[in-house]
Amino acid sequence: MKFEITIHPLHKVLGCAGDAALDAASALREGASAVERRAAESLSQFRLEREIRDLQEEIGLQMRAVGEMMYASHRGHPADSGQVQEVLEYVDGLYEELEAHRRELETLRGLLVCSSCGEGNSAGSLYCQNCGKPLSRG
Ligand SMILES: [Zn+2]
Repeated sequence: MKFEITIHPLHKVLGCAGDAALDAASALREGASAVERRAAESLSQFRLEREIRDLQEEIGLQMRAVGEMMYASHRGHPADSGQVQEVLEYVDGLYEELEAHRRELETLRGLLVCSSCGEGNSAGSLYCQNCGKPLSRG
C-alpha cells in the first residue's frame, strides 16, 4: 500500500481511517526530525483516543445486551445467569483497558494522573486539583 504522507496536511491524515494513521506514524518515525516526532506523538494520541472511543462504544453495546437480557427475564424469558455474568466480567475487563488507555493518553499529554480520581493534573502539580490527594509520579 502506498501512503503519501508528504502531500497531506496532518489534520487530513488524522481524519483518515485509523490504520492509515498508524502507517503514517511508522512512516514518521523513520525520518524523525523534531517536527516529525511531534507529529508521530500526536498520531499515537489519536490512536489512543480512537481506542478509547471504541472501548466506550463496546461497553455501551455490552451494557445494552445486559439490559436486553434483564428485560427478557422481566418478560418471562429468564436469561442464563452465567451468560449475564460472563458479559459483566467482559465489561470489567473493558473498563480496566479504558482506564489504562486514559492514563497513557494523559501521560502522553504531559499530565500527572491522580491515582485516586483519575484527574489529569498539569506537570509539576503536588496535589490533585480535583480531589486534593497528593500526586506521586510513576
Ligand atoms: Zn484526584
